[in-house]
Amino acid sequence: MARGGEESGLGQAEAIIRPLPELVRNQIAAGEVIERPASVVKELFENALDAGAREVRVDLEEGGVRLVRVADDGRGMGPADLRLAFAPHATSKLRAVDDLDHIATLGFRGEALASIGSVARCRIYSRPAAELLGWAVENEGGRVSEPRETGGPAGTHVEVRDLFYNTPARRRFLKRTATELGRCLDVIQRLTLAHDELGVAATHDGRRVLDVEAGMGFRERIRRVFGAELADALEPVEARDGDTVLTGFVAPPRFARADTSRQLWLLNGRPVRDKVLIRVLREGFRGHLEHGRHPAAFLRLAMDPARVDVNVHPAKAEIRLRDERRTFGFLVNALREALRRSDMATPGQVLLDRAARRDPAPGATLPDPGPLRRPDPRERPGDDELRVYEVPGRPLELREREDAGPAGAAPAPPGTEPADPAGGWAASDDVRGPFVVVDRTYIVRALPDGLEIVDQHALHERVTFEELKAELERGPLEVQRRLVPELVEVTRAEARRLEEHLPALESAGLCFSVFGPTTIAVQGLPVRLRRPGPEELVRVVLDLIERTGRVPEGVALLEEVLHSAACRGSVMAGDTLSQDEIESLLRRAARIPEAQTCPHGRPTRVRFAKLDLEKAFHRK
Ligand code: ADP
Ligand code: MG
Repeated sequence: MARGGEESGLGQAEAIIRPLPELVRNQIAAGEVIERPASVVKELFENALDAGAREVRVDLEEGGVRLVRVADDGRGMGPADLRLAFAPHATSKLRAVDDLDHIATLGFRGEALASIGSVARCRIYSRPAAELLGWAVENEGGRVSEPRETGGPAGTHVEVRDLFYNTPARRRFLKRTATELGRCLDVIQRLTLAHDELGVAATHDGRRVLDVEAGMGFRERIRRVFGAELADALEPVEARDGDTVLTGFVAPPRFARADTSRQLWLLNGRPVRDKVLIRVLREGFRGHLEHGRHPAAFLRLAMDPARVDVNVHPAKAEIRLRDERRTFGFLVNALREALRRSDMATPGQVLLDRAARRDPAPGATLPDPGPLRRPDPRERPGDDELRVYEVPGRPLELREREDAGPAGAAPAPPGTEPADPAGGWAASDDVRGPFVVVDRTYIVRALPDGLEIVDQHALHERVTFEELKAELERGPLEVQRRLVPELVEVTRAEARRLEEHLPALESAGLCFSVFGPTTIAVQGLPVRLRRPGPEELVRVVLDLIERTGRVPEGVALLEEVLHSAACRGSVMAGDTLSQDEIESLLRRAARIPEAQTCPHGRPTRVRFAKLDLEKAFHRK
């Protein structure tokens, strides 16, 4: 066929293998480092940190696609450095292979600016503090200009415009402005939370989206980034195991979200995103989270660098823990303890504010800072993505007073907090009536400092679960054997499936046996387990096996069973409880620190403080 012509080319002098032009090489490298505007923000921000900046300002337009500009007051570059800044593999941070073992900077490959320069229109202005004049270079799709002298402040500004303007295929992969902005802000927020010494300001399309002063402590930073309601509810975490130290904050379960945007792990000062650490949090909050939710937590983990490998994947911030089991257990326990101390009841004021659709006055007990951006009418309603960046939109003069405490990282002592939610309710262990029950579900009762509404079924579930768990920890569960087993009809396949798991079920006091090819006999159940009933329980267990393919043992099984039962709606509302029964339920609950959410994370109680009531009636 036509190939004959090619064969005759064998003797040709010209090679068909050719080195790629530099622009193409850089664009290929850019494919790995620069995926979207957020990657540009990360690289430029980290360069600013490497340059010793104290203040960083980030300006974004159209989610960063049109413009990312990062300005810093770091050490700057002279004309000789500016000539090389865009060159691939040119870096000031690494000189020899040996340096790789003890790198202290965030960058070292010298790839970022070269990559960015090949896929955008860039400009760098820079002036070292000792110089009187600065210099600027431009890079348009890989064509770098000679440095030009120009006036300006000490430090460096890097401007990146029209990302991917010359690689339309990549540009098509970008998402909506709101999504790209969200990712950019996520990067900025994490780096801001990681560096107490750093002042950060950020704008989007000219509007301010973040404002944190240098020297502001961790909790104050969280307040600026995520708002006062969250910051005020944070519970400090502090634990040590040898030279592994965990500090930071967890938020009560009601702040959990469908994504991990409110989770921050700093490992020896650097933000990391790691599956194991996400799992640590899920485990620490186990039993307090609704399905698919991720808790809010801001944690700093300090450990011997030799016990953790951070360079598993440079771009993904994954880590590998040596001695993972031990560290995992230590972290989970520390989180559980902190969570138990936190106030998990839903504050009534949150509901009042929501009902009134207004922001409370600044300085209120739980001020909601509100989104900084006004909702954009072009954005789809119900789109949750933008809520990540709620930032305080209060006038600047108010902030002075709020952050008036010492600017260190230590949380303010409890007395100076606007309110100490958990502490103020100590007297609620007093469980005498009278109670009002609404809709055979909600128990309303007076407290010395306000009132409380309890979901009797959610609470009952939690109490049952905790009591069963405690009983199981002491020894085998007390099981009530039936004289006449209850028979439950199932399909052949279901009976076979269940048969495999009978011993595991027995370990949690669920005594089933296979009575016939399509019949299960329920021989006994834990004394304390009133609901779901035998038939329902069999269904719940079958559901569980189908969903997860397995049956855990002991406590984990009970937890799953109660959870599935709740999902199937089989633990219903609607029993009429006598005043005595209510009292007894509340008394049992008072002994259980976890009793503020039901085992699958729904709240069990909503509290209205006297102050909330006074505000609702405009007395305050
Ligand atoms: P890397 O950070 O891996 O060295 P980059 O391509 O990000 O590679 O940057 C190349 C070089 O340009 C850096 O090594 C540094 O010397 C210089 N540089 C980049 N950004 C700044 C900045 N904001 N301030 C001072 N120097 C900078
Ligand atoms: Mg860099």
